[in-house]
Amino acid sequence: MKESIPLVLRDARRTRRRHAWAAVQRRRLADLVEHARTHSPYYRDLYRGLPSGLDDPARLPVTGKAALMAHYDQWATDREVTLERARAFVADPALVGGRFLDRYLAVTTSGTTGNPAIFVKDDRDIAVNYALGMRMMVSWLDAGDVPRIVAGGGRMAIVAAANGHFLVSAGAARMRASRLRRRTVRLFPVHAPLDALVEALNEFRPALLLGYGSVLGMLAAEQEAGRLRIAPALVEPAGETLTGGDHERMARAFGAKVRDTYGASECPFLTEGCAHGWYHVNSDWAVVEPVEADHSPTPPGEPSHTVLITNLANRVQPILRYDLGDSVLRRPDPCPCGDPRPALRVQGRVADLLTFTTGRGQGVIAPLMLNTLVDRTPGVQLYQIVQTGPAGLRVRLRATPEADPERVWRAVCEGIAGLLAEHRLKHVILERADEPPQQSAGGKYRTVIPLKDPA
Ligand SMILES: [Zn+2]
Repeated sequence: MKESIPLVLRDARRTRRRHAWAAVQRRRLADLVEHARTHSPYYRDLYRGLPSGLDDPARLPVTGKAALMAHYDQWATDREVTLERARAFVADPALVGGRFLDRYLAVTTSGTTGNPAIFVKDDRDIAVNYALGMRMMVSWLDAGDVPRIVAGGGRMAIVAAANGHFLVSAGAARMRASRLRRRTVRLFPVHAPLDALVEALNEFRPALLLGYGSVLGMLAAEQEAGRLRIAPALVEPAGETLTGGDHERMARAFGAKVRDTYGASECPFLTEGCAHGWYHVNSDWAVVEPVEADHSPTPPGEPSHTVLITNLANRVQPILRYDLGDSVLRRPDPCPCGDPRPALRVQGRVADLLTFTTGRGQGVIAPLMLNTLVDRTPGVQLYQIVQTGPAGLRVRLRATPEADPERVWRAVCEGIAGLLAEHRLKHVILERADEPPQQSAGGKYRTVIPLKDPA
């Protein structure tokens, strides 16, 4: 299929009308497996001995971030995609959002489980992401939302890291090469001081507000305090799982609909959130398998140990049966919204804000602000930031073998200190840990651990 947004939309409508998700999924999986084992040396080795024409994900070996990052140059199906080139590209601020090797997007993770990675997206991945995102947003809106959409000029504000997976939406907007769209979709860097962010949003007056859940939570507080004065029709928190209480508070603060979705940099279009708070798998373009520790299927109604995902769109860096690390629960009965596709809830990735005591009360930092900051610091292999008190942070750091640990520590320390200062939290004390980052009982490296959560 060609990389065009209208074609993806037409195809998605046809699949839905015919309820053909399972058949389309099997066909696309067989295609991708064949493509991967033909053009990716990593998958050629991994799938050696498997029969051809495989369309059952359960028969494929499992992959994950660590394995793919370790075989980066062999993983891609394009020999020009190398880790060295990808790192050099994302390290240059002037190139952020531009075309990598003139034909791809490069997206860095702001992962909550350590090990920063760089994912390369081709035009098909970008088109599918954009088309499914638009379809989802349209399904969330109704006639009652039109006045606010019109008042906001259809403008969409994305509050996120300038290099994260939201870039894919911005990239798709650019792909359409329409000047109108470029004016209507704007990325607001999450590292900006809160005051500046509030001012910029007041000026932009978005109809749609998207961004990291924890940061939108902070913006909801600004709106309640009267400093932020916007009237979006729809608020879409992403990247972190929020509780029902967070949703209600956001809906109240903005007087808007709040809907969210569950995805990852590896596959942003994994699911579509419904009005009943479930995430329905976009089964025509993704495979989601909740599994136990031994990768056997977890029965519906029970929380899984982890989840394996497959992105059926991206052909340059195939993501096939990839261990994402989240615990998900599949709904055992039909969802009341009427969508027949598998419905999930996510147990992991809870967005806990770091709350600090200040002279004037409290100040908060969203974990993802720290994640996106440390992720982009050169030489960091693994890190963990632990809140040790109402005004203390302890940083566990492991540098890459070729990096100078002292220099990496200074860069991380300066970055965090700058972020704290911007949020009027200069008094928070940063302490360098002797011990390396610690794994949780489930084997995950949580990168940010708030005080209230002694994990
Ligand atoms: Zn539903």
